[in-house]
Amino acid sequence: MNELDLEKNKKAKVILHMDGDAFFVGVEVAKNPKLKGKPVVTGEERGIVSAFSYEAKALGVSRGMPIFRLKKEFPNVIVLPGDYKSYVKYSQMMFEVVRRYADDVEEYSIDECFADLTGLEKVLKMTYKEIAERIKREINNELNLSVSIGIAPTKVLAKVASKWKKPDGLTIIEEKNYKKFLEETPIEKIWGIGPKTSELLKRKGILTGLDFVNKKDSWIEGNLSKPYFTIWKELNCINVLKLDPELKSEYSSIQKTRTFHPVTNDKKYLLSQLSKHIEEACRKARYYKLVAKRATVILKTKDFNYFDLNIKLDVPINSPETLMSLVNEKINNIYSPKVFYRATGIVLQDLVSEITLQNDLFGNTEKTNKLKIIHKQIDLLEKKFGKRLVHLGSTHEALKIIEKGTDSDDLDRDLLFL
Ligand SMILES: [Mg+2]
Repeated sequence: MNELDLEKNKKAKVILHMDGDAFFVGVEVAKNPKLKGKPVVTGEERGIVSAFSYEAKALGVSRGMPIFRLKKEFPNVIVLPGDYKSYVKYSQMMFEVVRRYADDVEEYSIDECFADLTGLEKVLKMTYKEIAERIKREINNELNLSVSIGIAPTKVLAKVASKWKKPDGLTIIEEKNYKKFLEETPIEKIWGIGPKTSELLKRKGILTGLDFVNKKDSWIEGNLSKPYFTIWKELNCINVLKLDPELKSEYSSIQKTRTFHPVTNDKKYLLSQLSKHIEEACRKARYYKLVAKRATVILKTKDFNYFDLNIKLDVPINSPETLMSLVNEKINNIYSPKVFYRATGIVLQDLVSEITLQNDLFGNTEKTNKLKIIHKQIDLLEKKFGKRLVHLGSTHEALKIIEKGTDSDDLDRDLLFL
């Protein structure tokens, strides 16, 4: 095939990526300015550190550290419970500031957004740099929060730019200098390139973003799957990933839970409830074109105790079959026939855009692709004829029984940092 004509494919865009600096802790400091400059962590309610201030980081605190260990090793660190309502509120206020300047804003996660600034220089009579400085200043003055901003011709390059200097950074990458930035960006730091792929690339001598973009398109297409070709193009200033203003940060995790009456110890019933939740959560993920890298199964007992089962998904998914078989396999880790339960739930976590889905290059993704095609068809049918047209056999039991209860979509975004 002919080599891709890079010049012809470039359509100049100006994309901004904004990322809150240690966001959860930033909000805590904004709420209580006395905490400024102090080592602070959140996550007390979960028993592990979920976010930390730069001061805590400097001491050696790391994410996921158990709180009891933290208290022993770093007695001066201030430990706070997560306050998700405030995080959501501040997140929305922060995005509103960006919307003062740009119409197209994609809320990518609770503390990250993309915005299309193309053409705004003329409209607003400001340079792109001035627009970014205004956004930073207004967020800082009005919300007492610090953010880092990157501006670049594509989304993937804008991510490189916002990470370039943190905290309080402002970095602009342009077509004329993008290779300079990529030369100093290790391959594993590029958005969408996961650990397995970076290992493979490194073995092939590709250590930096520059090594990657310098490969010919035919090499990329011949050696890697499609999402990486997209990343390659984006890194070469070719705009492929569109902004999705509909993508809301509420879906950085998707939760489905239901309380039922009466309480039960019937494993078959609990599994059918879970199967139903999993189908619903996956449907929602597909609607937003997201895939989950992790899932948590929750069983709540009659006495209001919680048991949770963490499932790491080697290949990110949004189809229920794989997840349900893992749940079947592992449910006995948290289920006991002697205990009565009042609720079940599923949380899909670490959601990422389907388009940057990292296929396991060594594993067989054929099954995943097949399921994807099947679910696309089901979603189309259900759109036409209504929900519940097709469901997993394991869900059947749950649908037969009409029970009282409440479905709730909860926001659980405690795992986002940086
Ligand atoms: Mg952040």
